[in-house]
Amino acid sequence: KGVTPAELRRASVINNVSQIKPAVDSLKHAFRSGATRSHAWREQQILAILALVKENEDAILSAYSSDIGKPKCDWFLEKQAILGDANHMVVHLRELMQIEKRSIPLWMLPGSTYIVKEPLGTALVIGPYNYPMNLCLCPIIAAVAAGCNVVLKPSEQMPASEQLLAELLPKYMDPAAVLVVTGGVPETTALLEEKWDKIFFTGSERVASIIERKVAGSLTPLTLELGGKSPVVVDKSANFTVAARRILQGKFINAGATCIAPDYVLVEEGEAEQKLVAALKQVTLKMFGEDPQKSEFYCRVLNKMHMDRLEGYLADAKKKGAKVAAGGQTDAADRYFAPTILTDCDASMDCMQEEIFGPILPIVTVSSAEAAIDFVLSKPKPLGAYLFSSSWKVQRAFQSKVSSGGMCINDATVHVLGTDIPFGGVGPAGMGSYHGREGFNCFSHCKSVYSHDTMTDGLTWFRYLPFTGFTETV
Ligand code: NAD
Repeated sequence: KGVTPAELRRASVINNVSQIKPAVDSLKHAFRSGATRSHAWREQQILAILALVKENEDAILSAYSSDIGKPKCDWFLEKQAILGDANHMVVHLRELMQIEKRSIPLWMLPGSTYIVKEPLGTALVIGPYNYPMNLCLCPIIAAVAAGCNVVLKPSEQMPASEQLLAELLPKYMDPAAVLVVTGGVPETTALLEEKWDKIFFTGSERVASIIERKVAGSLTPLTLELGGKSPVVVDKSANFTVAARRILQGKFINAGATCIAPDYVLVEEGEAEQKLVAALKQVTLKMFGEDPQKSEFYCRVLNKMHMDRLEGYLADAKKKGAKVAAGGQTDAADRYFAPTILTDCDASMDCMQEEIFGPILPIVTVSSAEAAIDFVLSKPKPLGAYLFSSSWKVQRAFQSKVSSGGMCINDATVHVLGTDIPFGGVGPAGMGSYHGREGFNCFSHCKSVYSHDTMTDGLTWFRYLPFTGFTETV
C-alpha cells in the first residue's frame, strides 16, 4: 500500500504512543520506495538543515534561553559544529557515495571486487538535553547523507527546544526524511518496541544500558555516544595561561553540561599547581566578571535534580578537605551554580567518582606526569583526554598509553569540531563514531561485490568441484 506525501507530512510529528507504529511504518515504506537514495535527495536534506539553522537562530536562542538560560556565545560554538559537519558532508557526498574499488586475487580475474555503500534503512536517533540542535541534527545529517531516513526522539528535558525541532524539521525537510516523536520514557519505550535498521543514541551510560537490554536479541546495530570523566593532565612544562583558557572554555561553556568537558585536572604538586590555579582564577574572572550570576555569558543548570546533585558534590568535597579556589556560590531559585574551582581534591570524593556534568573543576595533585598518566589508566576509559605539556616525551607517552574516545594535546574539547575526524567513545564512553566519513559509514552497510564475466569461464576450469586438476598439482 502506497503512502502519500500528505500522509507522511501529517505523520511528521508524533506526541502520542498510539500514533508511533503507523507513523514509523510509513517512514519505513518511504525508505523501501527508494525515495531516499539519490544524491540530489540527500544533498537537498542536508542543505535544508543548513537553512533551518541559519534562518531560525532567534527562535533557537529563545528556546535555549527559556529551557536552560543558555547564552548566545554558547550557541555560537554549537552552531559551528552543525554548519561544519553539514558543509563538509555536502562537499564530500559524491565521493562518499562512490563505489570503492578493491584489489583482487589473480585467479578471480577477469573481474573486479568493490564496495557498494548501502543505506542501512530507517534509523532511530535519540538525543540528550545538553546540545539539542547539534546532537539531534548532526546524526540526522550523517543518516540522510548515507541515504537513510530517521525517527528523531529529542530530549523532553528541554521542552521549548524539543517543540522547536518538532516544528522546524518537517517544515524544512522532506517528510520522507524525518519524523519527530516528542515525549519521554513511555514514548522512547514504545519506539524501542519497533524493529530498527539502526539505533543511534546519545546520552548517559545508565539509559544506554536500558536501551541495550531492551533491544537485546533483535540484532539491531547500535551506536552509543555516552559520557564519563574526561581528565586533563597539566605538566610542569605547560603554558599555564593558555592551558587555563582552553580548559575553562571547555569546562564552563553550557555551565559544564558537555559530554567532553574537562571533568577534573591532574597537575604536578608545588609550583605547577600554584601557577595553574592562579591562571584558572584569572581566566574565570576574565570570562564572567566578579559576579558570574550577572554575566550574560554564563548558562544555568537544567533543573533542581542537577542543582542538588552538584551541591552534593561540593558539600562532600568540602567535608573531605577540598578548598574552594573560585566560585562555590549557588542560587537554587535561579538554577545558578557559580563556575567553581576546587583544590586539594582526592579520588575518594564523589566529584572524582561520578561524571560531574556541571561547572565544578576539581584539581588533584600528582608527583609527576607519569603518575598522572597512571592515575588516568586506573580509571575507566574516558570520552576525551587532554594533555597540556611542551615536552615531546610526555606528549608521546600520553598519546600512546591513554585510551580515550578522542584526545587533544595542548587543547581541550576542540577535537569535536574537526569535520573529518571521527567523534565517539571507547569502553564505557560509548561505541561507534560519527562526523564526516565515519558518520556516513555509521549509517551505511559496506556491501562487498564481485563482478565477473562468463566469456572466460574455460580458463578457470580449476575453480569447480571436484578441483581435480588443481589438487593434483599442489
Ligand atoms: P539521558 O541518558 O538521561 O537521556 C538521553 C535520552 O534518553 C533522552 O532523549 C531521554 O528521553 C531518553 N531516556 C531517558 N530515560 C530513558 C529510559 N528509561 N528509556 C528510554 N529512553 C530514556 O541523558 P541526558 O541527561 O539527556 O544527557 C546527559 C548525558 O549524555 C551525560 O552522561 C553526557 O555525558 C552524555 N552525552 C554524551 C554525548 C556524546 O556525544 N558522547 C553528548 C551529549 C551528552
